[in-house]
Amino acid sequence: MDCIFCRIAEKQAPAEIVYEDEATMAFMDINPVSPGHLLIVPKRHARTIYDIDEAEAAAVMRTAVRVARAIKAALGPDGLNLHQSNERAAGQAVFHLHLHLIPRWAGRPWTAPGQARAGDPMAIRETAARIRASLQA
Ligand code: AMP
Ligand code: ZN
Repeated sequence: MDCIFCRIAEKQAPAEIVYEDEATMAFMDINPVSPGHLLIVPKRHARTIYDIDEAEAAAVMRTAVRVARAIKAALGPDGLNLHQSNERAAGQAVFHLHLHLIPRWAGRPWTAPGQARAGDPMAIRETAARIRASLQA
């Protein structure tokens, strides 16, 4: 099985990682629907919410809470969405469970993940650095 998010979790593929612990990793989405859009994954492969170990699901949510607070402090969005898709019919495109964190600004309309174009790598790197700094503060 060739899974891009397993390769990122194993650091065999590049990603702008902002946070990791034993069970989870948070990294920037390369096609961001808003500035600061990032993904949280369990390091151990699970295809969907139906497959993930419950303790690892809890670890993913704990990471989401930590990273959401860091995004709020670093970027000051007006709001933030959590988004998670299971199976192709729901819009899942990468079959390793992931939770999207999507900062939102008032008046800027929602576009579903998967609809966005590639982001500017420099801008993504700079945003990642701000979130990382906020996590370390
Ligand atoms: P979905 O499976 O619909 O929840 O969306 C998969 C998400 O993964 C999309 O938002 C993609 O832009 C994102 N994505 C795909 N490959 C990578 C990658 N190598 N690094 C970061 N994000 C990725
Ligand atoms: Zn995987």
